[in-house]
Amino acid sequence: MNTFRAFRVTKEGETFRRGVQELSPETLPEHPVTVEVHYSSLNYKDALSATGNPGVTKRYPHTPGIDAAGRVLSSADPRFRPGDEVIVTSYDLGMNTPGGFGERIRVPAEWVVPLPSGLSVRDAMVLGTAGLTAGLCLEALLERGLKPEDGPVVVTGASGGVGSVAVALLAHLGFETLASTGTEAAHAWLKALGAAAILPREELAEPSERPLLKGRFAGAVDTVGGETLSNVVKSLRPRAAAAACGLVGGPELSLTVFPFILRGVSLLGIDSAECPMPLRRRVWEKLAGPWKVDLSSITDEITLEDLDAKIDAILAGRTQGRVLVRVA
Ligand code: NDP
Repeated sequence: MNTFRAFRVTKEGETFRRGVQELSPETLPEHPVTVEVHYSSLNYKDALSATGNPGVTKRYPHTPGIDAAGRVLSSADPRFRPGDEVIVTSYDLGMNTPGGFGERIRVPAEWVVPLPSGLSVRDAMVLGTAGLTAGLCLEALLERGLKPEDGPVVVTGASGGVGSVAVALLAHLGFETLASTGTEAAHAWLKALGAAAILPREELAEPSERPLLKGRFAGAVDTVGGETLSNVVKSLRPRAAAAACGLVGGPELSLTVFPFILRGVSLLGIDSAECPMPLRRRVWEKLAGPWKVDLSSITDEITLEDLDAKIDAILAGRTQGRVLVRVA
């Protein structure tokens, strides 16, 4: 095949247009590993890239897609051979490097993760960056010593991509998982995913002057930031930790040092984009093995043609769970 299909974003004046186009391989950058992409997934960051957000993508025309999984077509790097099944997420993929919304990507070998046994390329993209990030949060909390018998663990933004996978993973590992959500329609499926109870979003979003709140959480996965994360940290039990990965509720924190110096709590920062390869591979191995969860009930499978409408939906907060993209 000489040409390949890609969901392309073009800039015309100040307007960004989106649609599926046939591209030639010469449009791909000079990197050693060429992958035939079978699946990708839609993340909030992709929607930003597809709508011209300069903090994500500076050069257009562009193919978004921070997630890709498929088969190696050719590799000038001895670590990979044609036919190898691989996952490529994060780094610059889909930002200023053509991403997973195209049938081909060409990337540095350092970005490529061999598909762990136990996962199909489809499973890998049901998880995608959201699943990897949820896994990194869990790994950080477990490394800090969190155990199911310690008590309830809260997940904020629970109906989102990262939040829903975090709920499923924690429940799978036997944690009493509290799902904090502002989406009423998600209550039933979050419980089916394993949440022991639902906390209304407002409960943790209310600003509080108090430096400490009742210590009720043994751990936390926070995708919201802002006042919510501040309240979560103030509500941690002694020596507990919160893994912070998102900012849908805002980037600011209103905290004093008291939770840290009186209760010995920890705030663990999670960054999936530049996560070192050994940690990245370890978490993917766990997601394929002991942490394997069934996410079929929260997966919406779409094609490249459906992306245009889905991008508007994710920007408007009208998506729940994970959006899987079948590419080729
Ligand atoms: P989604 O859009 O899928 O989910 C976000 C969820 O947050 C929503 O479903 C909603 O859940 C909740 N929410 C939305 N708006 C607000 C608000 N104003 N206040 C409080 N809660 C709100 O996003 P993702 O799950 O993909 O990503 C979540 C966050 O994590 C983002 O900030 C993203 O940038 C970040 N992220 C960070 C990564 C990292 O490496 N650190 C990697 C991947 C994502 P509900 O209705 O259930 O409350």
